[in-house]
Amino acid sequence: METRALTDADALALARAEARAGRTEGGVPIGAALVLDGAVLALGRNRRVQDGSAIRHGETDCLENAGRLPASVYARATMVTTLSPCDMCTGAILLYKIPRVVIGENRTFRGGEDLLRERGVEVVVLDDAECVTLMRDFIAAEPELWNEDIGEE
Ligand SMILES: [Zn+2]
Repeated sequence: METRALTDADALALARAEARAGRTEGGVPIGAALVLDGAVLALGRNRRVQDGSAIRHGETDCLENAGRLPASVYARATMVTTLSPCDMCTGAILLYKIPRVVIGENRTFRGGEDLLRERGVEVVVLDDAECVTLMRDFIAAEPELWNEDIGEE
């Protein structure tokens, strides 16, 4: 059966579902999807709390779940994330030369968007109200957990 190619909004909805699942688990509500030719290669969510991990952010968890991929696949993929990617995740996107990043929102946190653009990555910010609400509610409820996530005290 032919499946319809995912739009950016469709892919963001999947990433947002990951973020919500992470919140339900007591974690940080940030989710991601790696998309190729309108199909999902992998999903991920921040698992710092769940796994006691220092590096499993939404985007890095998604990359890990995708496994080892040829450079040619990354080079055609889109990283979809509910929140503006932090410096670590920006670095991972640049390392694998992922050419396109779709961001749910950058109102509650703004990461390496300028660096991504400088390095030729197409950055699309959807300014999704549900993503903003997810993060605002989380930051209000657990400010210490959020600061830990972005390397602050
Ligand atoms: Zn990150």
